[in-house]
Amino acid sequence: MRDKAIGDILVQPDALRRRVEELGGQITADYAGKDLLLVGVLKGAIFFLADVMRHIDVPCDLDFMAVSSYGSATDSSGVVRILKDLDAPLEGRDVLIVEDIVDSGLTLQYLLRNLGARDPASLEVCALLTKPTRRKVELHARYVGFEIPDRFVIGYGLDYNEKYRNLPYVAAMTDEAVAAAQDAT
Ligand code: 5GP
Repeated sequence: MRDKAIGDILVQPDALRRRVEELGGQITADYAGKDLLLVGVLKGAIFFLADVMRHIDVPCDLDFMAVSSYGSATDSSGVVRILKDLDAPLEGRDVLIVEDIVDSGLTLQYLLRNLGARDPASLEVCALLTKPTRRKVELHARYVGFEIPDRFVIGYGLDYNEKYRNLPYVAAMTDEAVAAAQDAT
């Protein structure tokens, strides 16, 4: 796709495929004999979730949450609202939250507290991307796909204004498009 918002490609489709397969293998090894429940965080995680799940070779269930984080177009505030909650209780389950990206970490911190209060047997995080230099809170993600620099990224499920999720790679948004997005808020 040609679009002036699409800047440098940070993670190519081949690298995504290879890393997602590796993560699926690690999750398979770690969750043998457990009661694994994947919790996908809508909507950004859906491509990653669908791909990694194909490489998980132990029984697992799937549920979804949708949250919205107040803030500007490219910065979250940490004030999180649940738009869609899980369908089933977590008590006694081995829960793995599947997220698209950890930026400040505030959304994930909220999710870990909220889901942790529901008595799961275990609670871990699998994030496709992380921007370590942006972190505002300490948190541990057991599985991480790629560390990326402090750029706003789109593609492979990640959007800007609901667009660009269908790109088969992860790209940085161009500086001009980021500046225009910030002006608009
Ligand atoms: P945090 O609370 O960690 O600052 O932000 C987490 C959420 O903000 C992510 O789940 C994602 O929805 C959004 N987000 C953070 N950084 C980016 C980015 O570079 N690109 C996109 N598309 N969304 C992002």
